[in-house]
Parts: sequence; C-alpha cells; structure tokens
Amino acid sequence: MTRWSPDTCGCVFDVTWDPDEVVAVIQTCPAHAGLPDVDVHESVLRENRTKNYLLGRALQQVAKLGKTLPDGGVTLADEVEYVWEFTGSGRDRALSVRFQGVVLSAAEKGLIRAAMSQPLATEHGWQRQPVTTTVV
Ligand SMILES: [Zn+2]
Repeated sequence: MTRWSPDTCGCVFDVTWDPDEVVAVIQTCPAHAGLPDVDVHESVLRENRTKNYLLGRALQQVAKLGKTLPDGGVTLADEVEYVWEFTGSGRDRALSVRFQGVVLSAAEKGLIRAAMSQPLATEHGWQRQPVTTTVV
C-alpha cells in the first residue's frame, strides 16, 4: 500500500499498487471537501489525468512547445512551462492552462483549444474530467 497525493490538489489517499485502487481517503482538500469519498477519488484522478493528457494533446498540435527525446518521445521544451490551475470546488472544477516562455499565435492557441475540446481517450477506462478548460 502506498500513500498517494496528486499534484493537482491536497487530497491524500492510501492506494494499492496503482492510484486506481484506492483503499482509503486520508485527507480531503478544501476544494473536494463535502464530496462522498468515492467521488473525491474519482474527481481527483480525472483532474490529474486530464491535466496531463491535455499537455500531451497540446504537444501534438504545436511542435514548438516541445522537444524530441532520444527515445523519440516528445516532452516540453526547456524554455516552455505548462502552467495550469483548477478553480472552483466539487466535481466539476474549471481548468485553465497557459504556456509560458513561448509566444503562441492565435492560430496555435486555436489548435490547442480544439484539441482540448475533443473527447479524451477511453482506452484506459476513464472519462474526461467534465471541467471547463480555458487556454489563455
Ligand atoms: Zn482534492
């Protein structure tokens, strides 16, 4: 068993080998206070995955955000920072993201917005966090 906390909020869980398998909700952050335990875990996982997944989508859409790794993968370019913030509380917090260290044209922002509004992958058995996503 492992103690796990996302980087998206202050909730803390005891999980088995994977954050998917929650054993207990140890601590609930102010944003998720008031939700039943099962909803806390689901909401936190979706927020965390959505934030990470959207970065991947943005990197696919706008090449100058990223750099290619020796293994062929793509990660954020050294000078670029992915700045994200969740606001609100409960299940449907709003996510806003922006990229620092790079100047994006209106067209590039449009590509990122379009990618973020598409349904997220379901191959891992999870659904998109129903957040309101804003690209600044
Ligand atoms: Zn939380």
